[in-house]
Amino acid sequence: MNIHEYQAKELLQSYQVAVPDGISAFTVDEAVSAAEKLKANGASLFVVKAQIHAGGRGKGRTKSSGAKGVILATSVEEVKKAAASLIGDTLVTIQTGEAGKKVERLYITDGVDIANEYYVGVTLDRTRNQNVIMVSTEGGVEIEKVAAETPEKIVKEWVEPGLPLQANQARRLAFALGLSGDPFKKAMKFIMALYKAFEATDASIIEINPLALTDDNDIVALDAKINFDDNALYRQPKIAELRDESEEDPLELEAGASNLNYIKLDGNVGCMVNGAGLAMATMDMIKLAGGEPANFLDVGGGANVETVRNGFRIILKDPNVEAILINIFGGIVRCDRVANGIIEAVKDPEIANKLKDVPIIVRLQGTNAEEAKVLIDESGLNVISAVLLKEAAEEVTRAIGA
Ligand code: GDP
Ligand code: MN
Repeated sequence: MNIHEYQAKELLQSYQVAVPDGISAFTVDEAVSAAEKLKANGASLFVVKAQIHAGGRGKGRTKSSGAKGVILATSVEEVKKAAASLIGDTLVTIQTGEAGKKVERLYITDGVDIANEYYVGVTLDRTRNQNVIMVSTEGGVEIEKVAAETPEKIVKEWVEPGLPLQANQARRLAFALGLSGDPFKKAMKFIMALYKAFEATDASIIEINPLALTDDNDIVALDAKINFDDNALYRQPKIAELRDESEEDPLELEAGASNLNYIKLDGNVGCMVNGAGLAMATMDMIKLAGGEPANFLDVGGGANVETVRNGFRIILKDPNVEAILINIFGGIVRCDRVANGIIEAVKDPEIANKLKDVPIIVRLQGTNAEEAKVLIDESGLNVISAVLLKEAAEEVTRAIGA
C-alpha cells in the first residue's frame, strides 16, 4: 500500500524524523489558511505540492494549467494562485503515464533554503534477506539513474530484521554524505529515526529524495515516499486507515472486495485461472502463442459460480479484452462443478451481453475433466474447450487474430 507525501511526513515525524512544517489542503481556501498559519509561525517561503501517488512531480506538468506539481511561493497570494492551478487538474509525471493523476489534495510546506540535496532509502535486500539503508550524495535526481550509471555513489549498510541499526552504521552513512559537525550529528540521528520508523510500521520501502541540508545547517526530509507490506496491514490499523482508494486501480479494488487476486495488465487476452503459479504459467503460454495478457486473475482454489461470475464481471469491465482464456486445474475442486459454474455465469444476462463479441476458451484439467469437457461442448454456448494449455493459448490468440 502507498500513502501520500503529507501522510508519510506526519508518520515519520511521530518517529522523530525531521521534516519541515506542513499542512494538507483539499481546497484553495484551505491552502490559503494553511499558508497563513505557516506564515504566523515564521514561514516566508512556501511550497505548494500536489499530492498524488507518483513521483517526479517537480518536473511534471498539469494538463490544463501547465503548472508544475511542486511550486515555490513567496507570499500567501502566490500560494493561492499555485493551489488554484493544481487542484482539480490532472498532473502528468514520468511515473503517472500519459493519463496522469487528478490532483485532489495539496500539501503546503514551510519552504527551506537548500544548501545541498541527498538521497536516503530503506528497503529489503532480498538477495541478503536483510534490510538495507542506502544513502547517496546524488539527491534530488532519479536514484535509478545513479544506480545504473554511478553505482559507487550509493553507499549501503545492512541490518538483520528485528535488530536495531547500530550507531556506527549510521555514522558511516552520514560520513558518506560528506557531512561534518552539527549536520553530521543531525544526519546520524535522522537515519537512526528513519530506520526505526521503517521497522515499526512494516514498511517495505521508505525513500527520502531529497534529504536536504538547509542554509541553517538543518537536516530535513523534503520528500517522503513510503510503501507498506500489505500482508502486515492487519496489525497496522492506523496505517491501513491512510489508504486513498481513489489512487488505486478501480478494477483491482473491486476484485479485492470479491476476494479475487486481480492485477490489470495492458494486453487483450483476459485470463481466469485458479492458483497464482498456474496463472503465471498461463500468462507465459499466452505470450508464447503471440498474445498479450490483459490481466492476472487468480480465482483461488475453490472456483465456484460466484467466483467465476465475479471474475467475468471484472475481466469484462476492461475494454481492451477481446477474448478470455479460462484455465482451471481441478485438484481441490471438481472440473464438472467448475464447468457448471462457467455455464451458469455465462447465462447471467449482463455477462452474456458483453460476451457476444468476446470468445471464451476453456481448459479444465484434473478430477472429472472429461465430464466437464462434455458439459462445455454440449452447453450450446459460445465457449471453446481445449485439452492442452498450449492448445488453449493458441485458440485464444487465434480468436483475437494475433
Ligand atoms: P518529486 O518531484 O515528486 O520527487 O517531489 P519533491 O518533493 O522531491 O520536490 C521536487 C523538488 O522541489 C525537490 O527536489 C526540491 O529541489 C524542490 N523542493 C521541495 N521542497 C523544497 C523547499 O522547501 N525549498 C526549496 N528551495 N526547494 C524545494
Ligand atoms: Mn522527490
